[in-house]
Amino acid sequence: MYKSELDTDVQFLPGVGPKRAALLKRELKVSTIGDLLRVYPFRYIDRSSIQKIADVQPDAAYVQILGQVVSAELTGKSGKRLSVLIRDPSGEMELVFFRGIKYTYERLRPGSAFLFFGKPSLYKGKLNMVHPEIDNPPVEGAANFSGTLTGVYNSTDRLKNGGVTGKVMNKLMAAALDLALKDVKETLPEYVLKEKGLVPIRYALRNIHFPADGNALAKAQYRLKWEEFFLLQLALLKQKYVRSRADVGILMPKVGAAFNACYRALPYDLTGAQKRVIKEIRSDLMSGHQMNRLLQGDVGSGKTMVAVLSALIAVGNGYQACIMAPTEVLAQQHYANISRYLAPTGVRCELLTGAVTAAARRPIHQGLRDGTLAILIGTHALIEDEVQFKNLGLAVIDEQHRFGVEQRSRLWAKSAGGIPPHVLVMTATPIPRTLAMTLYGDLDVSVIDEMPPGRKPIQTLCIGEGKRLALYRFMKEQIALGRQIFIVYPLIFESEKMDYQNLETGYEEIVARFPYPPYKVAIVHGQQTSDVKNFNMEAFASGRAQILVSTTVIEVGVDVPNASVMVIESAERFGLSQLHQLRGRVGRGSERSFCVLMHGNRVSKESRKRLDLLCATENGFELAEEDMKMRGPGDLEGTQQSGLPIDLNIASLVRDGNILSDARSYAEHVLARDPVLELPVNRSLADELRKDKYTSKDYSQIS
Ligand code: ADP
Ligand code: MG
Repeated sequence: MYKSELDTDVQFLPGVGPKRAALLKRELKVSTIGDLLRVYPFRYIDRSSIQKIADVQPDAAYVQILGQVVSAELTGKSGKRLSVLIRDPSGEMELVFFRGIKYTYERLRPGSAFLFFGKPSLYKGKLNMVHPEIDNPPVEGAANFSGTLTGVYNSTDRLKNGGVTGKVMNKLMAAALDLALKDVKETLPEYVLKEKGLVPIRYALRNIHFPADGNALAKAQYRLKWEEFFLLQLALLKQKYVRSRADVGILMPKVGAAFNACYRALPYDLTGAQKRVIKEIRSDLMSGHQMNRLLQGDVGSGKTMVAVLSALIAVGNGYQACIMAPTEVLAQQHYANISRYLAPTGVRCELLTGAVTAAARRPIHQGLRDGTLAILIGTHALIEDEVQFKNLGLAVIDEQHRFGVEQRSRLWAKSAGGIPPHVLVMTATPIPRTLAMTLYGDLDVSVIDEMPPGRKPIQTLCIGEGKRLALYRFMKEQIALGRQIFIVYPLIFESEKMDYQNLETGYEEIVARFPYPPYKVAIVHGQQTSDVKNFNMEAFASGRAQILVSTTVIEVGVDVPNASVMVIESAERFGLSQLHQLRGRVGRGSERSFCVLMHGNRVSKESRKRLDLLCATENGFELAEEDMKMRGPGDLEGTQQSGLPIDLNIASLVRDGNILSDARSYAEHVLARDPVLELPVNRSLADELRKDKYTSKDYSQIS
């Protein structure tokens, strides 16, 4: 059988050998020539766009300069700073380095010329560039490919020290293409290339490494990105399809009297978004397949009502429902709110948490078993083994990222007659659309993108220590108006002791500044017993205390409509979406609300940007998009647990959202005609999806 050169060990590629092969494997995870071809440049040097130093504007995004080193000297305390003066025929410029100084110092010998790529800045009125990328100047006809664009590959110090410089990488790629491009097989069927106007894989690979021109490069990039998203979406959607076909769901054909009674008694009209989402859920429940739906909605968007009405559909069809919250406080609050909504329906509802005594549990267990108890609200306590339902039909999980996969599967086990209950997962952590499509590609996603009417905007301010006394005066004014105030302290795991100290000191200061009477200050944190915590929480919720000092325990869901001020201490230590969640605790009543971000004296540029953004917008999705841009998709809150299903090689969830949408809808279109990819025209796709990277991760674990 013919052996493809793609599988040849990279050490046999001319110019590599065993030593460099080990390096490539270690640094770039490249073992074969085929692997090497899939290492793409992360940027290109465009010989046609080299700027003159004299023309460089300090506010330019990026510039590329071909300059000769005039001098290089180590400056600063103990030589921690490398200052390099470069020159081109038009002028001179300083380059500054703080890292990799030794290597750079040795490389930038006076007299030698390099290409420098970076962002110019102004320092003490003079133009400079901090940490530009350094490339050897392009050599005419260096590779056997002509063109004005030269690929630049990610490198490491080890690679450079081992002789695998940028120039060597270009040579290796040329050799790899010469040898193995002919063996690369087309993954996308002919009809896909045609309908989507994509270039063939060999063209794409050649031009991603050695672009003939800008246009060819754009086509190559588009093709490779599109393919990457398409295959991933195809894998996700295929799995979803297979699952929904296999998983019989409990059939709930009607809406029922309880739903109608509750609906008629609602003190307000549902928002358009709430109505739409309830319709989506209804049609799932009527479909005969198991529902696996993620409901995203910013804090305060009214998810609870959606949960209640969904539960009532289950009840109306003769099934039980449970609503699970991540904390005791939240479960209690849900219970209080939901009981009110249920009053006109006569449907029985109980609360089950760890705090419920054994004696009080008995009738609950009994009611669940005999079916007289229709709706159970609780914490993790409701997935304990002794909790048995007569016929659980729907499970609502609030704040999904706090529930592990294993806990969810225990819920499933509580189903009636072996048919798993429908599952509705609710989250207030807005996830950018592109990320949701990838992370939850096999789930159905509903979004409440509209706030209940009459909500006043929250005014967000960012202030430093110097304004603390003014803040206290403002707080007193608000309290005099009858409002309540949250003060939140960060709690970061590694320095727990110190954090509690901050909290305690902060609490003492507040008590001193706001003495009793007339002021009353409550405090809540994770190290309290649940009795103490509940007592304090109660004091605030009932209005007896005007100020609640706490850690982020109050982050999720707590509803005190009369609270109109949220003060966040050391706000620079919180992430963007966490700050947003905290802010969402106020602005729930009809009064004007405020969020005050207190920051320390030293705030990094990035933290500053976060705080500014928060002051600028209240839209959670916008913030989530920005957060993803700043930190990358892997670090977003709420996503660490599940992680991205696959590493993307060239496509970016941040920049390529449009390509992702297109690839996803095309994947749906392909699967609509050939759900399990058995048609001969789709053979190459089916083969591709059998590869490890699409099969090793069990996507179903994500829900
Ligand atoms: P979240 O999505 O954060 O869980 P909630 O369900 O707690 O939001 O709702 C926030 C507040 O908005 C509650 O006080 C609720 O009564 C109110 N609310 C929900 N839906 C509407 C609506 N359609 N019109 C007016 N107020 C509403
Ligand atoms: Mg909620």
